[in-house]
Amino acid sequence: MTVATFDQPTSTAHLTRQDRCDRCGAQAFVKATLATGDGMELLFCGHHFRAHEQKLVAAGATILDERHRIDEQPAERV
Ligand SMILES: [Zn+2]
Repeated sequence: MTVATFDQPTSTAHLTRQDRCDRCGAQAFVKATLATGDGMELLFCGHHFRAHEQKLVAAGATILDERHRIDEQPAERV
């Protein structure tokens, strides 16, 4: 039986709290991988992804949308 641990490096399929929106620095919940040769990755919070979504999709970017996880975040007050 395989025991899953959370110690291994997070797979690219999951954004972490360390991933920050490139625009405003909020926690990122969407990663867009551009279809350009270098496969540049952009990180967005929910707000900024909405602002750029159409452009990204039109450009053929691969979208990793984890906005469903926004509500799962434990309250984190600074
Ligand atoms: Zn943002």
